[in-house]
This record gives sequence, structure tokens and C-alpha cells, in this order.
Amino acid sequence: MSMHEQLADDLALYALGTLEGDDRVAVEAHLRDCPACQSELERLRGDVALLAFSTSGARPPARSRERLLAEMAREARRAPVRPTRKRAWWTALQWAGAAAILALFFLLIRQNDLLRQQVNRLESSSANQQQQLVQARQLISALSGPDADHFVLVASKAPPQPQGRAVYLAKSGTLVFLASNMPVLPPEKIYELWLIPVSGSPIPAGVFRPNAKGSGSVVGPPLAPGIQAKTFAITVEPKEGSQAPTSQPIMVGTRG
Ligand SMILES: [Zn+2]
Repeated sequence: MSMHEQLADDLALYALGTLEGDDRVAVEAHLRDCPACQSELERLRGDVALLAFSTSGARPPARSRERLLAEMAREARRAPVRPTRKRAWWTALQWAGAAAILALFFLLIRQNDLLRQQVNRLESSSANQQQQLVQARQLISALSGPDADHFVLVASKAPPQPQGRAVYLAKSGTLVFLASNMPVLPPEKIYELWLIPVSGSPIPAGVFRPNAKGSGSVVGPPLAPGIQAKTFAITVEPKEGSQAPTSQPIMVGTRG
């Protein structure tokens, strides 16, 4: 067995900073002249660094964990068969150090698992919201479809009035808009919904063409999150829609 094979086990302890006394001196002396052991030490130190980072980032590669654990297991098997070289208290100190690091190592893995569970929970709650949005879309598309019967109750003899209802969540930029009794438009025109922010110009919030019964909807138009709305308004625009209103609003919202 060559010199650096004999010292290979001590390298893991050396990389962890727990090797002391004569063993440490011997490893350091050997390292000065042995490139193979130098690069093995670099690898082991890289593993230790990865373990330290593993609370905030990705799991350390399983390979690195296995290698360090294997080194420690190897040390455990070897320790009792060569009690002559070390004084007992050095060995005890080394093992206390190694045990502390092993405990820290499992603590890091545990923390990493907790973080992972947290991420999984967030991902599944985001999936839930996504699913609710899909259900809302389906419901609204059914309610504004040609099969839906609409009843508008108004004072006797008053004609049904065009009406729009917008529900808006500024935090996520989620918008659902339903309109009823909208006058039919010529084919080259379309209704456009506008988010009127607390300050600044109207923001396009989707276009819609009412069906034969005068019902229309805009669900989940692409709006940036966090815009505070003063109100919503509707204009009649060319059929491709506009980036800024080209006519006076025919309907303007009041907070309900
Ligand atoms: Zn060597």
C-alpha cells in the first residue's frame, strides 16, 4: 500500500478540519509532494462547501454526500484496528468533531427538506389558483354562451339598459368582466374595455363582441399586477381594438 493510500482516509477528516496532531502533520507533509492527494483534497473540500450551501440552494449531488458518508464509514471501520499510532484523546476529539459535523450535515439535509416542502406547498397553491381561474373561465363562458337565458328585472315598462360588471384584483392583475343588453355593433366595430388607473392613461383591458342576446365577457386579460384602478370604461373601437381610446366612453363604472 503506498503512502497516499494509507493517508486517504485521513484526508476526509483533514478536509472537515477535524484532523489534529501527528496525523495532521503527516497529511500536510505528504500533501506538499503528492498532486493526487492535493486534488482529492480539493474534491473533498468542494463536497464540504456544497453541504454548507445546501440550505439555501439545490441539494448537494448525491455522489458528494455518498462519498463523504463513505469516508466517514471507512474511518469508523478502520479506527479500532490501529490504536497504536494515536493517543486516545486525539481520537476522541476527532470523533467528537466528526460526529458534530455529521449532526450538522443531517440538520442541513433536514432544513433542505423543509424548504423543499414549503416550495411544494407554494407550487400546489399556485396550481389551485390556476385551476380556479380555469373553472371561472368555464363558468363564465357557459353563462355568456348562446344557451344561457338571461333575465333582467327592471321597473315595469322601462327598457333593459346596457350593463357591465367588472371584478378586479389589483394585486394579481386578475379581471373578470360581464356585460348584458349591449347594443349590436356593425362588423367593423368592437367594444373595448379600459382600466382607468388612479394616475396615467387608460390601459387596454380586452375587447368583446356581444352575442345575439347582447351578452359579452372579458376574462383574465393580460394586465400587469399591482395597478390600482380608479374605474373601468367601455368605448367602441375599430374591430382590431386600440391601444388608446379613439372615442368617448359609452359606459363608465362606479364602485359597487
Ligand atoms: Zn498521495
